[in-house]
Amino acid sequence: AVSVVLFTSDLRLHDHPPLRAALASADEVVPLFVLDRGVREAGFDVPNRRAFLADCLTDLDAALRERGGRLVVRSGRTAEEVARVVAETGAAEVRVAAGVTHYAARREEALRSALAGLDRRLHVHDGVITALPPGAVLPSGSDHYAVFTPYFKRWSRERLRDPLGAPRAVRVPEGLASEPVPARADIAGTAPGLAPGGESEGRRRLLAWRRAGLAGYEDRHDDLPGDATSRLSPHLHFGTLSPVELVQRARSLGGPGAEAFVRQLCWRDFHHQMLAARPAAAHADYRPRRDLWRSGSEAAGDIAAWKAGRTGYPVVDAAMRQLRHEGWMHNRGRLLTASFLTKTLYIDWRVGARHFLDHLVDGDIANNQLNWQWVAGTGADTRPNRVLNPVRQGRRFDPDGDYVRRWVPELSGLPGPAVHEPWLLPAPERARHDYPEPLVTLPEALDRFRRARDVG
Ligand code: FAD
Repeated sequence: AVSVVLFTSDLRLHDHPPLRAALASADEVVPLFVLDRGVREAGFDVPNRRAFLADCLTDLDAALRERGGRLVVRSGRTAEEVARVVAETGAAEVRVAAGVTHYAARREEALRSALAGLDRRLHVHDGVITALPPGAVLPSGSDHYAVFTPYFKRWSRERLRDPLGAPRAVRVPEGLASEPVPARADIAGTAPGLAPGGESEGRRRLLAWRRAGLAGYEDRHDDLPGDATSRLSPHLHFGTLSPVELVQRARSLGGPGAEAFVRQLCWRDFHHQMLAARPAAAHADYRPRRDLWRSGSEAAGDIAAWKAGRTGYPVVDAAMRQLRHEGWMHNRGRLLTASFLTKTLYIDWRVGARHFLDHLVDGDIANNQLNWQWVAGTGADTRPNRVLNPVRQGRRFDPDGDYVRRWVPELSGLPGPAVHEPWLLPAPERARHDYPEPLVTLPEALDRFRRARDVG
């Protein structure tokens, strides 16, 4: 018998329950990836993620070839292409990881009905894309958790399965047509410092992280210049690493660094279970606040300056430029740039979320949209009106100013923390730096935010 394994956001061979089950139930397996036209039409298929995806598919194909198989690539509508492969191979079943987004749910529905027409079964596997499936733990009286801490407590008590190893051999039916695996080199417009993708690279990073980074994570995760987080987020987004495996490995090491890291992985599950229960939160306020976000030409100028990293607030600008350069931004940078856009400039969070999705290699509907909502105060933050002060954030998380000097070369001549407040320099010296004046003063901005939101 033949089984089709449809890969989506799970581009790995290690700890892959659908593949494991397919190998147990069939003699031959079709590892299939569909370059889904709908993803492109939704504007989600941006160069940085497309390039990372190309690396992932190249690596997956190579790993399958080492095991006697190969990856089959098609493009079009997923359900139609899967049905075509089923017809071509006479496959008895199709296996796929359960998705979380509205898009994934629709894809699953389309698959289900296409396969029902062919009298074939669709098996949907939980615990592949998140550590715990959305809905696996619930508070009484609701279909999801809306507050992180109780979710984390409950989530921490759940036992996860032991991670599965990679299969030794995969037999793929002969003669099945495949498009060429996309090549990263063919993709234009990527960030110059974009990280490489693929399961092998993810596992290398994971190993290095366990050896050198994890133990110090609790103390150093907010250190902007130290850059001491795992940078595993694109691997989690594309599923080149398994969240179950990451949680289990960190737990087995133990210690404060590992515990803090597991807590962040739980944030990922938390946002996924929120989105699964409230798919509209991808674009609509999770907690509607009747914000009258600024618009018009003055706001458009502010948005352009924010995107370009020219707001006049050095740590904000540094982080925005890191995003353009690497297709990635440190979490502390994401927090303070998002707070700056939504609360200091009082611009709609959707504008910022879209810009992030255009550039982030880990750009993810659940994590991006719900973190934006968290910062904007329309989401799960229990203190929705807190405003991060960019000068204090800079002084605290980049105390010597090294992060700013790395990303804002116009200010590289300024010593130490003075780099966070270039407006304090004497006028002649300021004029020598090609660096903008702040878009707005912080007291004015705070006043505007409080009036607009009607909070004291
Ligand atoms: P680490 O600190 O090493 O954390 C390990 C893993 O935990 C991360 O890879 C990630 O999968 C998960 N994680 C950590 N923090 C969070 C969090 N707050 N929410 C959800 N998961 C988390 N993360 C994305 O993966 N994709 C996004 O599109 C995204 N957009 C964001 C937008 C904003 C405005 C903010 C404030 C945060 C966003 N995050 C997003 C969350 C977080 O910033 C990144 O996951 C993290 O910076 C990735 O770096 P890392 O892998 O080194 O993280």
